[in-house]
Amino acid sequence: MLRCPNCDAEVSIEERYCPQCGVHLGMAAAMAERKLRVPEQSPAPEEAPFALEALVPRLGERLVQEGLITPAQLEQALAHQRELAEKQGTPKRLGQVLVELGFISREDLDRVVAEQIAQLHEALYQANAKLEQKVQERTRQLQDALERLSELQRLKANFIANISHELRTPLTHLIGYLDLLGDGFLGDLNPDQAKAIEVMQRSADRLYRLIEDLISFSLLSRGELVIRMAPTLVDSVVERAVEVIKPRAHAKSVTFSTDVQQGLWVFADGEKIGWVLQHLLDNAVKFTPAGGQVWLRVWSDDGRVYFSVEDTGIGISQEDIDKIFEPFFQLEDSGSRRYGGTGLGLALVKQILDAHKVDLEVWSEVGKGSRFSFSLPETWPQEDPAP
Ligand code: ADP
Repeated sequence: MLRCPNCDAEVSIEERYCPQCGVHLGMAAAMAERKLRVPEQSPAPEEAPFALEALVPRLGERLVQEGLITPAQLEQALAHQRELAEKQGTPKRLGQVLVELGFISREDLDRVVAEQIAQLHEALYQANAKLEQKVQERTRQLQDALERLSELQRLKANFIANISHELRTPLTHLIGYLDLLGDGFLGDLNPDQAKAIEVMQRSADRLYRLIEDLISFSLLSRGELVIRMAPTLVDSVVERAVEVIKPRAHAKSVTFSTDVQQGLWVFADGEKIGWVLQHLLDNAVKFTPAGGQVWLRVWSDDGRVYFSVEDTGIGISQEDIDKIFEPFFQLEDSGSRRYGGTGLGLALVKQILDAHKVDLEVWSEVGKGSRFSFSLPETWPQEDPAP
């Protein structure tokens, strides 16, 4: 059960509006997430910087306070102490000087020092206890904020999933009829009409991919995207991705080359890895200007199968490399708005590879290009069980 960010009523994961206050749950979650801030820790006036010295005055002052020496004797002893230090180079302790000058007895001095040590010990103990209490309080605050945040994120993911599903259904009909029109099943088209249908098909296709990204992202955020690991033939996974990318590269005048070792098997979710390759290749083509190159390489080495997607595109600066995996992140100057996209692709790629316990390595240089690579454990086809 989740709680409504507006009225705190219990709401089910399927709900879009709160049955109690009627608020739109996805929107309310986004608003509440913005407001969610862990209060900054500012010391209350009575808790102002803690100084042990305030609790344990210095020895000379303490002896004066207790009436064991006079302020004049303290002055005299301090002056003598300075004099000795100048002459001998090593300063004597004040207590020793006071005893030597006959201002205080050794017993009184030892008693006051022992009392001071006990006082200091107590002060340290209390400071420690206070600090521990503060750490516990802060940890509790952070845990509460984290729980609230993940709840709000689930509500948001839920909203994205619902809306994407509802967008996909009418779009599927549109694509179906566009295909029928384009293939001439609903009558002949003149060249202008055919061109218009082609543009519509491309746009609908792009929209469909964006919606698919949104659905996969929300499923992953809700932990509902199932990864099915099985021995998978790499050739068929790669072929499907290449088939999709080839025409896109051609349309952009980007040279697309493949160097794929045949007959390799990996232990992975073939469908998801195919999607990862397709997305990396799609980005490579998208961010490579006309006349550039994109390579897909697959090879096996030492029990692993390596995949690498490289381009001669615009590249990514070092400080942005970590950020590109954040959901909805797009580099402002990469012209991604010009090419479209949601900024979700790499976040999904990373989550899928994480689920395979695999790292994605990125090399990139602005103006030179980028390379995204990862590897999967190599396996061999399962023998068919004997009939
Ligand atoms: P999208 O492609 O939908 O914008 P991604 O999550 O796939 O989202 O990528 C996030 C951002 O990372 C892109 O907007 C782009 O700025 C940058 N990026 C990804 N791949 C490349 C690449 N091959 N070359 C240059 N920039 C890239």
